[in-house]
Amino acid sequence: AVAAVGLTACGGGGAGSGGGNDTANANPEDLTIGVAMPTQTSERWIADGNNVKSQLEDAGYQVDLQYANDDIPTQSQQIDQMITEGADLLIIAAIDGTALSGQLQAAADANIPVISYDRLIRDSENVDFYVTFDNFAVGQAQATALLTGLGVLDESGNRTDAAGPFNIELFAGSLDDNNAFFFFNGAMDVLQPLIDDGTLVVPSGQTDIEQAATLRWQQETAQSRMETLLTGSYNNGTVLNGVLSPYDGISRGIITALQNAGYGPNLDSTPRALPVVTGQDAEIASVKLIQDGVQSSTIFKDTRNLAEQAVTAAKAFLEGDEPEANDTETYDNGVKVVPSYLLPVQTVFAADIQSVLIDSGYYTQDEVDAGQ
Ligand code: BGC
Repeated sequence: AVAAVGLTACGGGGAGSGGGNDTANANPEDLTIGVAMPTQTSERWIADGNNVKSQLEDAGYQVDLQYANDDIPTQSQQIDQMITEGADLLIIAAIDGTALSGQLQAAADANIPVISYDRLIRDSENVDFYVTFDNFAVGQAQATALLTGLGVLDESGNRTDAAGPFNIELFAGSLDDNNAFFFFNGAMDVLQPLIDDGTLVVPSGQTDIEQAATLRWQQETAQSRMETLLTGSYNNGTVLNGVLSPYDGISRGIITALQNAGYGPNLDSTPRALPVVTGQDAEIASVKLIQDGVQSSTIFKDTRNLAEQAVTAAKAFLEGDEPEANDTETYDNGVKVVPSYLLPVQTVFAADIQSVLIDSGYYTQDEVDAGQ
């Protein structure tokens, strides 16, 4: 790390503070970037960590990559330690987006730029840049995929003459993750008009994000909520047609609950056909379920591109420049609107696995067939 000796700490920690430690004149080999990732239980974060690390190393930087087992104190401690050990820049995918204000103040005091990775860090002015996907579009795409799966929309996205009503249930992510609100609000932007006109019905009545939420995005938590929903609203023969799920792990919890209750496996079998279940992240286990016709869809976010944006932004700060934002309006973290770089997302149904996931080299056909 480059010592900040003799420099006055800039308390505001505003964008561009990377030059403050004189990193602009340093060799990349002398600069260390701390990368804090939430958990290794989901493969997307393993891929994120690996991609960010290898791309930073290719650019010559030293990398300190840490995972926190979805435990908030562990993540805070890891970031404290990165700062103490003289990190020159931090890339953070927060577990709880509101829990890092202390760490971020310490980073700002030491002139360390902070890049919020995928998840917005809230309630702090010391977030210099945000790299993520278009999270509202993720929610819209999930809802659209649900409607396509139900046959309410055709392949071009036009309304068919299927009038319903279709029974659906709604799942959301972890409420300490800002993304959960973007996904849910994006989805409701598409679904609410159809709930209002009676095309869609939510038999449980649980349409608020608080009711639909899944703490830490946990598969088991989703499975047990699905079991409760089945017992409470579907034991009388009511047919469940679709489930909005924000993340593949949650989707697999939902599917397990359904299978244990005798649903599926064939989407066309009646009367207990598996409902249309959406997802996110194109996790390999879910891609296999999609190939097998068990899960309906997922949203693919190419983490290779996100890593690339994070590295581009990191380089800019360390060279004393400002990273280029493509959105400066959307991500208000409660204290300021954080300049952001948003990447596009892609919906994947069974027919898209080849063109989107295999042709792009994200997975091989063998991996998809094995589901791992
Ligand atoms: C990410 C999603 C992921 C979820 C659970 C969100 O912040 O944007 O891609 O599915 O966390 O890990």
